[in-house]
Amino acid sequence: MKKAIIMTDLEGISLVDTADMMTGDGYDYACRRLEADLNAAIAGCFDAGVDAVWYVDGHGGGKNIYPANIDPRAFQIIDFNDPGIFDDCIAYLETGLHAKAGTLNAFLDHTQSSATVHDYCINGVACGEFAQGAAYCGAYGVPFVMVSGDRAACGEAAALVPGIACAIVKEARGRNKAVCVDAREAEKRIREAACDGVERASQIGLWTIDCPAEIRFHFHHTWYCDNMVGTLPGWRRTDGRTVVKTIEKVVTYRDLNLC
Ligand SMILES: [Zn+2]
Repeated sequence: MKKAIIMTDLEGISLVDTADMMTGDGYDYACRRLEADLNAAIAGCFDAGVDAVWYVDGHGGGKNIYPANIDPRAFQIIDFNDPGIFDDCIAYLETGLHAKAGTLNAFLDHTQSSATVHDYCINGVACGEFAQGAAYCGAYGVPFVMVSGDRAACGEAAALVPGIACAIVKEARGRNKAVCVDAREAEKRIREAACDGVERASQIGLWTIDCPAEIRFHFHHTWYCDNMVGTLPGWRRTDGRTVVKTIEKVVTYRDLNLC
């Protein structure tokens, strides 16, 4: 039994090219493109010979994907924090990745929340959501083998995991605008990259973090910390805008996040 897991996000999806598509009239179209990119990645995984593909509706609180629109061979993961998802998993992928907060010329760069998070660090090094995913699957011996997204997101991934397969589907023009490849080309790139990454999974290195590890969130505003302190066990405030926790090891995805 060989399984692949595909995380999804919305910002790095093909043909999503303006910020207002995250919330406004373009949101429904963006979600349908998310399904198309995901289906391309699922096809690529099966091309590479896996027996099963599980996927995560990862943007916001989920509910971006209509499961009926997804390749029926794939299953949706409901509890991403259950480490049992990694049983028999040989490869982890993500479609729709965006770059970490503060990246130059990166479409909708952010880490967890554009509204609140200025910076996120693991052991003192600024990281993005790619690193969070890589640290989680890496803790279970699973390599992060493929991403799709804009050029900046793919560059961030390749800098942490040399050899990762990348499907670049757009280039940012500043933060809130992107120039995209067309739908067919995007799906072709995603399918081919997914197949390539899964086929080379055993040669792609794990990305793991040294533990105990320090997880730090630096927020835009002090009031956000004011509201948070005391509500989340394990976190300590180190200055007006910063909270820190120490983890002994990565057990769930939650360990790398606020909650
Ligand atoms: Zn997102």
